Amino acid sequence: KAKSKGRNRYVFFDQEMNEETNEHLEVEKSLNKALANDEFVIFYQPQINLQTDKIVGFEALIRWNHPTRGLTAPGYFIHIAEESELIVEIGNWVIKEVMRQIKAWYDMGLDPGKTAINIAGKQLESAGLVAFMIQSLRESGCKPEWIEMEIVERFIMKDTSKSIALLKRFRELGVDISIDDFGTGHSSLAYLKQLPITKLKIDQSFVQNLEESGADRAIARTIIELGRGLGLKVLAEGVETKGQKEFIYSSGCELMQGYLFSKPIPAHDVELLLKNQAHML
Ligand code: C2E
Ligand code: MG
Ligand code: MG
Ligand code: MG
Repeated sequence: KAKSKGRNRYVFFDQEMNEETNEHLEVEKSLNKALANDEFVIFYQPQINLQTDKIVGFEALIRWNHPTRGLTAPGYFIHIAEESELIVEIGNWVIKEVMRQIKAWYDMGLDPGKTAINIAGKQLESAGLVAFMIQSLRESGCKPEWIEMEIVERFIMKDTSKSIALLKRFRELGVDISIDDFGTGHSSLAYLKQLPITKLKIDQSFVQNLEESGADRAIARTIIELGRGLGLKVLAEGVETKGQKEFIYSSGCELMQGYLFSKPIPAHDVELLLKNQAHML
């Protein structure tokens, strides 16, 4: 009996895995066409300084205008792109598109502050990223101080001495670097102090349950203190409620991003927002 049960379970998982693999291949195939067909768009989510109540920047977040699924968030495809070399090409497109957009905003007399671009591990490992950044900055006319690179903690910690050397080169260009999803990727504190970074982003998983969880409050407070002690900016992401906002602000962190302020919005809405800042937030 136990044996046949075990076998059924095995068959069940096997089928599920097959379906997953099929979907995976499907997505990978259509991702290949998506770049050529210009199906990606960038949305921008405001980052607020609570002390001044002003927008100090945006995070650029990719969306896929999928031919049959419609506007699709990265949860559906970015991990698949990141497993293949496709992420390098997509990431390069993101860098160019964001730089083009920021320059256009400044040319219109708008001031979006700093725009953060998410950079995947494979992009960092690809030899050409520094040169690509330099070339893209030059071609777009985007200033390095207008952008920031967001890198998730686990990639930086994978090979710290290599990361330190690489990140230094971006800092030398004048580009800021923020650690994304901080607190989820077992950072070594010994390395953290050596990393040429400018900001920690408190992962939204700690922000979500602040009101119910004393442990999460302790973690959030500790990250804020740690960042301050290291001379870094600290930003809390995924802020959805007034209670979360108030706890974070009273813990000494004034930079926030989350649905409470705004969801990620299309570029055109950014223009409206920047023109009418005061009464839209
Ligand atoms: P992330 O970089 O940690 O971005 C934050 C995610 O949280 C975004 O999801 C954002 O829309 C969402 N978010 C913001 N505020 C709130 C909130 O108050 N509540 C909740 N529940 N969620 C909030 P999104 O846009 O779906 O992106 C998911 C992830 O995909 C990003 O996480 C990032 O890791 C990746 N990603 C997005 N754009 C790019 C890109 O251009 N390149 C690469 N490599 N990865 C990207
Ligand atoms: Mg990010
Ligand atoms: Mg994040
Ligand atoms: Mg994340």
